[in-house]
Amino acid sequence: MKIFVVNAGSSSLKYQLIDMENEQVIAKGLCERIGVTGKISHKAANGAVYEAETPMPTHSEAFDAVVYALTKSEAKVIDSFDEISAIGHRIVQGGSIFPKSCLVTPDVLTKIEELGALAPLHNPAHALAIRACIKTFGDKIPQVVVFDTSFHQTMPPKAFMYALPYEYYEKYGVRKYGAHGTSHRFVSDRVAAIEGKPKADLKIITCHLGNGCSITAIKDGVCVDTSMGFTPLDGFMMGTRSGTLDPSALTFIAEKENLSAADINRICNKESGMLGISGVSNDNRDVSAAAEAGNQRAQLATDMQRYQILKFIGSYIAAMNGVDAIAFTGGIGENDPELREYVCENLAFLGVQIDREANRTRGKEIRISTDESRVNVYIIPTNEELAIARDTLAIISE
Ligand code: ADP
Repeated sequence: MKIFVVNAGSSSLKYQLIDMENEQVIAKGLCERIGVTGKISHKAANGAVYEAETPMPTHSEAFDAVVYALTKSEAKVIDSFDEISAIGHRIVQGGSIFPKSCLVTPDVLTKIEELGALAPLHNPAHALAIRACIKTFGDKIPQVVVFDTSFHQTMPPKAFMYALPYEYYEKYGVRKYGAHGTSHRFVSDRVAAIEGKPKADLKIITCHLGNGCSITAIKDGVCVDTSMGFTPLDGFMMGTRSGTLDPSALTFIAEKENLSAADINRICNKESGMLGISGVSNDNRDVSAAAEAGNQRAQLATDMQRYQILKFIGSYIAAMNGVDAIAFTGGIGENDPELREYVCENLAFLGVQIDREANRTRGKEIRISTDESRVNVYIIPTNEELAIARDTLAIISE
């Protein structure tokens, strides 16, 4: 059985075709510059590559290019799309409406579009991709939607509410929704599997550290708190995002510099974080290299991010009254030994002990704490596409 996983943005479309017999990727690719020009880069598992520039005025033409790449190009992997059992879509925002993945129906599609108010850069693009799939594949292939927010829907109100006038929650749904939920779920499932215990018996903290970063507290098998909020700007500093700060700093800057709400949004989302502090780059590798070369602001950015991550982990240990396992994932989480060492050394008072040799590992599933450590610490490479494919398969098999 083959599942096609789609992660659509407004001008891009990432995809993977996964064979669910062995959970291996058969082919993957990326369509870029949709609505502008159009380019597809496609790679089959056997190494064959297909690349083409082809007009993609809408997501429909992008899917046409994907069908060609999969079924006819020099890197083809199937004879026909009929071999595909279902399509699974990543959806950024499911609001309070979608606590779990579900089949696409006209009603579900309308709700995803309506939730565009909470995720204007993402949900409208996801809806376009779903409509394009319906146009290209008709109703022959079932489509499933998997929401980044679903895993966080178990947070209690004391964790998800902001202390603003209650009417904004009632009128506009202003509350914490979280993000990266599919990754936090996948990683915490892996932790439980490695520990050989039911997830419900473990207190787990998962740290998804990539361009976007979030940390989640998982107790009794469910998410009880997460660092991202109403939008993925909340939490601690990221590549270009500020994370949590005093809102009056923003109103002060807006007044001083005569800035609009849109300007503030842009500054906090695109010009802040590691980039804003270091002035070097949003990329962890560039900032670390600059810090090593003596750049003080790059060092400050690194120090700030590590300190903020540590504080979130500490607060979640308090929130759960303990922790059994901490897992690092994402480009930074999987590849930055210094950050992991900093966190573990500052949790030594809890009996966390890092195995320095194991901690040198990059991008591989491994325990990086010692046998004596009272908390197990892991690197767990995330696989959101596989999690989406598994959900998709489970739903069409119901
Ligand atoms: P996204 O959130 O876009 O999926 P990733 O999870 O790929 O991002 O993470 C991107 C971040 O991971 C970048 O800051 C990058 O510098 C960092 N990263 C990737 N590989 C390494 C590495 N080998 N060492 C340190 N940082 C790395």
